[in-house]
Amino acid sequence: MMADGTAIEWTDATVNFWWGCTKVGPGCDHCYAETLSDRFSTGHWGTGAPRKKIKGAARLLNRLDNDYAWWAADAQIGQLHPNSRRRVFVQSMSDLFDLEVPLDWFGEAWEKIVQCDRIDIQIVTKRISAVEKRLGAIASTIWPGHAGLIVTVVNQAEFDRDVPRLRALKAKLGIPWVGLSCEPLLGPIVGDFSEIDWIIVGGESGPRPMHPDWARLIRDQCAASGTAFFFKQWGSWYPQIDRDRDDPDWRQDYSRRFADNDRTRWLNLEGGRGFHGERFHVMGRIGKKAAGRLLDGIEHSAFPVGGRC
Ligand code: SF4
Repeated sequence: MMADGTAIEWTDATVNFWWGCTKVGPGCDHCYAETLSDRFSTGHWGTGAPRKKIKGAARLLNRLDNDYAWWAADAQIGQLHPNSRRRVFVQSMSDLFDLEVPLDWFGEAWEKIVQCDRIDIQIVTKRISAVEKRLGAIASTIWPGHAGLIVTVVNQAEFDRDVPRLRALKAKLGIPWVGLSCEPLLGPIVGDFSEIDWIIVGGESGPRPMHPDWARLIRDQCAASGTAFFFKQWGSWYPQIDRDRDDPDWRQDYSRRFADNDRTRWLNLEGGRGFHGERFHVMGRIGKKAAGRLLDGIEHSAFPVGGRC
């Protein structure tokens, strides 16, 4: 659950001070952290469930920080890493701003995050309203210059609710860069992307497909606003047929060729199933690896500029 090295495409390592969380929105429905955690020890998810403290997290973060010179040299010599500073995702198995976590656990984690300033820390939360509460509760007035804050928004309602808060928090606390994690992306998002430095888009490794136009919409808005765009994955599903473009005779073939089931999904632009609505696509469940991470044939792997990520 903690690793000097990771399969997550936008980071170099993960560190977890604890496991466990409570689901707070539709993006949590198929939480991979819960599934993974349950293989080792159950009962850490939900309101009132005790979180599990992870030994060795502080030690690992220190080690990653102490290894900064080796990492930078390695990056220069072997061009193995696009950044000479190692990116570390803190709390990939929970939420750093979960208010049910004992305050002293949060305090220890935050102290270590602030200290380890030779790495770039990436914090992802679904609890933006808890950020100031938690920092206030440990009397911390510092937001470290080597840490960025990413908020998960999976649909338009979450975007409209949380992005103004994120923008305000960036200004108030002096956060060097902020981002959005739109994974799993569950619907179209349109809005003001100004002052958002980075957007990560990904489909779910699970039962809900991502319409290709949802990812394209964000890609194109990022290009217009100068926001770095990272297309992480399609997830389990990949577009097979664009009804309007590829299959003008779809009405004839619709039921015969493509039954709507667990392996094939008829998806329209609004996320509805069936062939009503705009931009109907046939999505096939081909698996995360096969689906890959190219959007219209192009890999998008930009990182924020301005911050140090
Ligand atoms: S906030 Fe993250 S860790 Fe917590 S339940 Fe939701 S997806 Fe899982």
